Amino acid sequence: MCYCGSEKQYVDCCGSFIDGSELPGDALTLMKSRYSAFCTQAIGYLVATCSVTALKNNQAEDVAEFAEAAKFTKLEIIDTDLSAYPAEVEFKAYYLFANSLCCIHERSTFIQQDGHWLYDAGTLMPAPERKLSRNDACPCGSEKKFKKCCSS
Ligand SMILES: [Zn+2]
Ligand SMILES: [Zn+2]
Repeated sequence: MCYCGSEKQYVDCCGSFIDGSELPGDALTLMKSRYSAFCTQAIGYLVATCSVTALKNNQAEDVAEFAEAAKFTKLEIIDTDLSAYPAEVEFKAYYLFANSLCCIHERSTFIQQDGHWLYDAGTLMPAPERKLSRNDACPCGSEKKFKKCCSS
């Protein structure tokens, strides 16, 4: 299954956008493919799908550093407004960082340029952070204990 939580294989889903063989047809599809790009550390794709404004606010090096340090475990789509322009997607992206389960809860806006959907801006919402103990079930969904799976 693809990282974005779809029922499709990665190569038939976000992989086809990240490798450039297809273009995401709407903002939600683009958003999911950017999440998968974080999972696979496809930094080039993350940068290429940012608007000029977004690149001003997120330096490519910072994006790369974050994608390498964080292990993303789950994406939850909270709300979308794809008929609005800029289109809006609200999501929660869970990731492991320094043995804590963290979450980015963001409402992002997306614009379209020359037929390409681009990430433009985001408003972060407060999100709890949970320190994991070694015997917790691993949040990556493996059904193993954290200490035997993604703990560092
Ligand atoms: Zn996908
Ligand atoms: Zn795990």
